[in-house]
Amino acid sequence: MWKLISKKSFTNLSLLFDFLELSEKQKSLFLNKSSFPLLLPFRLANKIKKRSVTDPLLLQFVPTKFEQVKKRGFCLDPLQEQIFCKRNLIKKYPKRALLLSPSCCMHCRFCFRRHLPTPFPSFQEELEEIRKDSSLQEVILSGGDPLSLSNDPLQHLLLSLEKIPHIRRLRIHTRFPIGIPERIDASFLSILGELKKPLFFVLHANHPKEFDEDLFFFLRKIQGLNIPLLAQTVLLKGINDNVQTLIELYETLIDEKIFPYYLHKLDPIHGSSHFHLSQQTERKLVEALKQQLPGYGMPKFVQEIAGKKSKTILG
Ligand code: SF4
Repeated sequence: MWKLISKKSFTNLSLLFDFLELSEKQKSLFLNKSSFPLLLPFRLANKIKKRSVTDPLLLQFVPTKFEQVKKRGFCLDPLQEQIFCKRNLIKKYPKRALLLSPSCCMHCRFCFRRHLPTPFPSFQEELEEIRKDSSLQEVILSGGDPLSLSNDPLQHLLLSLEKIPHIRRLRIHTRFPIGIPERIDASFLSILGELKKPLFFVLHANHPKEFDEDLFFFLRKIQGLNIPLLAQTVLLKGINDNVQTLIELYETLIDEKIFPYYLHKLDPIHGSSHFHLSQQTERKLVEALKQQLPGYGMPKFVQEIAGKKSKTILG
């Protein structure tokens, strides 16, 4: 079902522009071609306000001409992940390893892995490497998006990881349900239900417009398996850089018992400088959030700095 739905995603800009009823002048703000092409699930496109070029969903997923701006400090691999990456496996922090998945449900314009090579389709060598490295305790399935894998390979991967004695915990980081919540189908739920070791499910959400009852309906099924749900967000100029939006985002998550985990400072990836906020603005926003959110609902404001052994907590 979800695969059929994903076939309806927009990959063609002019079809999307017609769907959004943009004028010629509005269309001229966007890039006709990008090395990181348009990929936008229909349900997200359907939430974008018609005849508008300021919608927070449109700006997160559709390439604008601002991506051509070159800014000092913005580069292709700001976290220097390629140094730590062997095929689909990244080991940069102690005890944890990250497995990259081959594709995503949508292409986010600020993605810090947008310029990295496409991951390999199989995980055999990575599993072998994880088996050999007994210092590892946790494996994180991350972007691309692990939910872009079909249920059979995903089941094989999760069960293989779970069988490794030194792996104590698993984590799934995903943005997929925001675009296609039907991905959380019965078979996926039964795979999760089979796992004996703790699994944490981390949803990437940036704006309350990404939420709706369908999404929470499917996420509650994961919660029904006693799997903790967490959320991470990227702080983005023009998308969620105001207190009201962030409070609405976090209060909705808290009401759904999804715990705000990280608020990420934008990684300086080439083509994303228009999303960059000044340190002063970031600080003001974080301070305002601290005043209004309960302690358990306040995410850590963090930055990843290349070469550091953990994330840097900024607030
Ligand atoms: S879903 Fe995640 S990995 Fe995929 S493009 Fe968006 S931010 Fe990048």
